[in-house]
Amino acid sequence: MSYVDNVLETVKAKNPAQPEFIEATTTVLNSLRPLLDSDDKYEKNAILERITEPERQIMFRVPWVDDNGKIQVNRGFRVQFNSAIGPYKGGLRFHPSVNLSIIKFLGFEQILKNSLTTLPIGGGKGGSDFDPKGKSDREVMAFCQSFMTELYRHIGKDTDVPAGDIGVGGREIGFLYGQYKRITGLYEGVLTGKGLTYGGSLARTEATGYGLVYLTNAMLKEAGKSMNGKTVVISGSGNVALYACQKAQQNGAKVVTMSDSTGWIYDPNGIDLDAMREIKEVKRGRCKEYIANHPKAEYHDGKGVWSVKCDIALPCATQNEINEDDAKMLVKNGCFAVGEGANMPSTPEAIKVFLDSHILFAPAKAANAGGVATSALEMSQNSERLSWTFEEVDSKLKNIMEGIYENISSAAKKYGCEGNLVVGANIAGFVKVADAMIAQGVC
Ligand code: NDP
Repeated sequence: MSYVDNVLETVKAKNPAQPEFIEATTTVLNSLRPLLDSDDKYEKNAILERITEPERQIMFRVPWVDDNGKIQVNRGFRVQFNSAIGPYKGGLRFHPSVNLSIIKFLGFEQILKNSLTTLPIGGGKGGSDFDPKGKSDREVMAFCQSFMTELYRHIGKDTDVPAGDIGVGGREIGFLYGQYKRITGLYEGVLTGKGLTYGGSLARTEATGYGLVYLTNAMLKEAGKSMNGKTVVISGSGNVALYACQKAQQNGAKVVTMSDSTGWIYDPNGIDLDAMREIKEVKRGRCKEYIANHPKAEYHDGKGVWSVKCDIALPCATQNEINEDDAKMLVKNGCFAVGEGANMPSTPEAIKVFLDSHILFAPAKAANAGGVATSALEMSQNSERLSWTFEEVDSKLKNIMEGIYENISSAAKKYGCEGNLVVGANIAGFVKVADAMIAQGVC
């Protein structure tokens, strides 16, 4: 049995109830085969066995009191996966679907994504099954304070620096930061995605969506294409989706869809982004509200964005949102490029459809690395006690995303898989972490 198959068998046996984690490790390890076949140092140093086992996993009780005076209990997680190249770094997700499998898949992917940014950050992820939707600001604050009352002892500016993810935006980061400062007395860059009045970075809010478009543009450019004049479908209407839409529009694309977990909008005139931002960022409302002032737009319940004819698809909602049938429909309708804004939005079967059809496909760990890259830039600004301008951060972000594309595209070519950026991204991200682990001995 090959080294990869052996390790995958162990991962499956040790983590039987963790389908998302097994899916992520299987995809990554399989794509590393050309590298592992060319050099046995990774096997000799048991790198796959070590990199698939988190350095530390923390699970904790989060009790809080709701507006009716009732005590609620949620579960908190922080998985500190790998610190070979820097302090653990990765977001916190608050969503009812959160469990250890999802946090571990996200943490594992984060190791390689952070490595691709070229910045000194290790991989981690955390969160809770708490649902901020429908909660009052006071309830969200009570939850965040309780969550941080346990988490604070495990994190720090040089050890582990969490950020936002699904359900964790500026409001939640503010409450978490306030509680950290109150308990520890430290005013330090322990979280990223902070507000601009207390150490946040300009362009962090826009970074993941903008970065997705910068990397997608680099991929299109190598293929002699561009976004200008193209029809784009986007899923989601959260942080990543809104700013991917903004940058795609700035590049001359027509974005015709957005969605949330209840339904989706199709606007043949192109999404009116100001209206969507007002609904989502100000009112915290639902996509459905969009049609009230946009008579040409359609609203549909459920899922359906991928049935819309497009040139480019940017999935920006959640994991496994594009299955094999969705992928086939996209390809059949003429979609020639997919850039993943969400984490693991395409199932392995869907990725196979994209790769077999030879359409351009930018995998999440490269395409959505702009958020964490800018978080690392926020850490640098906090350490310097300086704030850079929007243009400075945005231009560093653009350079980083173009650098990532170049790196993953060359890695794919070097290992005989030209055009397969899944292999390119996994190998390019892995090599740096694995070499650092080997250099640091058995730890
Ligand atoms: P938000 O919470 O801001 O938005 C998430 C969006 O996706 C919402 O529109 C939400 O709808 C929708 N959504 C969430 N879960 C589901 C579901 N199960 N089915 C259908 N729609 C769903 O999150 P972000 O925009 O920050 O994150 C989106 C994705 O991007 C995630 O995969 C995240 O891990 C990834 N990502 C985010 C980064 C960041 O900087 N924010 C960085 C890198 C990756 P609803 O409001 O109804 O829940």
